[in-house]
Amino acid sequence: MAKPSPLPLLGTGDKGLRIHDLVKAPANTPWAKARQQSWDASEPATVYTTPEVLADGTPCTAVTVILRTKGCHWWWSSGCTFCGYFNDTRDDVTNEDLHAQWAAAKKKFNHFEEQQMVKVYTSGSLLEDREIPVAFQETVLRDCHDLGKELIVESRCEQLTEAKLAWATAINPSFTVAIGLEAYDDEVLRFHVNKGFSTASWDRAVTNLQAFNLRIKTYLMFKPPFMSEADALDHCVTWIKAVAERSDEISVNPMNIQRGTVIDRLHRHNEYRPPWLWSLVEMIQRVHDVIHPNGGMNGDEDQVSRLIVHPTAGGKIRGSHNCGSCDGEVVAAIERYAVSGSMLEFEGLACTCRTVWQTEVNLERQLPLPLGISKPRRGRVVDALRSP
Ligand code: SF4
Ligand SMILES: [Zn+2]
Repeated sequence: MAKPSPLPLLGTGDKGLRIHDLVKAPANTPWAKARQQSWDASEPATVYTTPEVLADGTPCTAVTVILRTKGCHWWWSSGCTFCGYFNDTRDDVTNEDLHAQWAAAKKKFNHFEEQQMVKVYTSGSLLEDREIPVAFQETVLRDCHDLGKELIVESRCEQLTEAKLAWATAINPSFTVAIGLEAYDDEVLRFHVNKGFSTASWDRAVTNLQAFNLRIKTYLMFKPPFMSEADALDHCVTWIKAVAERSDEISVNPMNIQRGTVIDRLHRHNEYRPPWLWSLVEMIQRVHDVIHPNGGMNGDEDQVSRLIVHPTAGGKIRGSHNCGSCDGEVVAAIERYAVSGSMLEFEGLACTCRTVWQTEVNLERQLPLPLGISKPRRGRVVDALRSP
């Protein structure tokens, strides 16, 4: 008798695996538990400075303070498919610990004397009372206001209620809230990202932020799991168009693989290739006239929003990459565009791998393959075909 197929197309009638269980499994492994307990709760995860531009377009230096926290409340109950923040948190961080971390960050940079912008990231939402004690939220808001610094915090949508924003703006009347929207598409939010909120909740959060005159930064994810390269490109263009008018800044995060996540598992199984850098270039070319309707560049009158694309781990196998030889040049052009907003940054970029990328994207538009056909690894095509 023929053996039953190990991968029956219509399933076996057993209950399917829930994405929730796939997301949670690695966080409960001994290595993840041991790592969490290894952190010193009175030291911030990291503090560093980068060049930035202020809201009015003036170049400045920004300090980024990444705090060691209890992590994100959505992660406690479920979690996003690509989020590896659980690697950096510990569940017993107290108000005193957070104040000690903040003091250490300020000491390291002399009360942020030389930085005009302060980004405070908590591996979750700063304004969420279950994650961050209210006293500490207040310290960050007040300190940055008193020091006269432009403050950026991150948040999910559900915290951004009228009541919470009224409380926060009474302490600091002007700051930026960065929201990890990831996709302006409910199906993608639910089935690819497991985000736990909908586009309608982002709409509501934005209305509230606008009512309090707060700046809005929107993060979009380029190529979430279970998506082909061509779909990623076409969708991200649509999402940028959908959010541009309502976002002061749009930061597109090309997927990078973080340890212990669903996307990490797909990547190890050769079922996912991080985005091509060429896709990011094409995406920028396709949306430039949405960001600058009159063909201008950053700082010009026609600017609708600011588009930032920062390929984390760009050029590496676990980040956006091309063939390996042109990566450095393409990453540099993309990063220059985030500052200048000028299409001239991409002039003269060329490599033979662009044809490979273009062929893959064209084929994916013809073939209904949900995971796409991108080669998951670099290397000689012949070797890949010969490998078992
Ligand atoms: S909402 Fe943000 S911090 Fe929370 S699980 Fe998702 S990506 Fe991670
Ligand atoms: Zn190349």
